[in-house]
Amino acid sequence: MTAIRPIPSDRLPALLAAMPKAELHIHIEGSLEPELIFALAQRNGVAIPYASVEELRKAYAFTNLQSFLDIYYAGASVLLKEQDFYDMTWAYLEKAAADNVVRSEIFFDPQTHTARGVAMQTVIDGLHRACTDAKAKLGVDAELILCFLRHLSEEDAFDTLEQALPFKDKFIGVGLDSSEVGHPPEKFARVFAKCRALGLHLVAHAGEEGPPAYVWSALDVLKVERIDHGVQSPKDPELVKRLAKDRIPLTVCPLSNLKLCVFPQLADHNLKALLDAGLVATVNSDDPAYFGGYMNENFLQTFAATGMTAQHAYQLARNSFEGSFAREADKRRYIEKLDAAFAAA
Ligand SMILES: [Zn+2]
Repeated sequence: MTAIRPIPSDRLPALLAAMPKAELHIHIEGSLEPELIFALAQRNGVAIPYASVEELRKAYAFTNLQSFLDIYYAGASVLLKEQDFYDMTWAYLEKAAADNVVRSEIFFDPQTHTARGVAMQTVIDGLHRACTDAKAKLGVDAELILCFLRHLSEEDAFDTLEQALPFKDKFIGVGLDSSEVGHPPEKFARVFAKCRALGLHLVAHAGEEGPPAYVWSALDVLKVERIDHGVQSPKDPELVKRLAKDRIPLTVCPLSNLKLCVFPQLADHNLKALLDAGLVATVNSDDPAYFGGYMNENFLQTFAATGMTAQHAYQLARNSFEGSFAREADKRRYIEKLDAAFAAA
């Protein structure tokens, strides 16, 4: 492990903001800000049950998972045309660039859109065009990961995969998201086996609210390369050993965990313990428009609450690059940039 010289705590926030980093767990539909939802509703003539941006912003103060999902799906209902998907992705990528995210692997939920009659091609083309522009105009390398909604059936996931395969050159992997408890990974064993045979990268949400057993089956049945969340893993010491031995990245989302009450307060978050146990933990924003902040906000608030050091900051950023699906040459380039930021701090 690269040893980082101590940095005074008053200089740590600036370093957290400035250091290059990768984001590996962002649901693009969860980046829709009230202003954009309102603008798209007007542009597309879609009626939404909110009279103003302010009223919609107030609705973002949801109190539980169901009220979050209600506003999440109402927000997604304004997305109809290729340009809408582009505008949503571009707005996120501009924020990512401002937070010095140099690589982003973006989740999207096609079933949320195809179920409303939007064509798969409309979704993927809009998202992908924004990713292509981001490389040229923002210096962010962005790639797409298609997620299956786990509260729906495996058959529905197979249909979704079938619809997406003509555009396979525009996404690098598949994931599994939405309500975890009651929908164990093994429900999707066959569709993940097919995706694996197709050469797609594999990730899955596991151990956010669900038990360590879900992390085991994501690894052993689905054969995923990364675990999204995974913060329940320390309940099983054997699982922690396995995650450390195989260097399985965990895409941890502190502000999301706070908002959904996975931890009562940020000071109780186990991110520092995960790092200190040698796990490849990373920081990510999950659904940033809804959970209170983008990448740097997650870093700043979590460090302020937990007393992590510059050594932890370096390790988190380095883990994000090593855990990414970037080419090896790009990973080396990102880590050189990271080392330069710490040398200059
Ligand atoms: Zn998520």
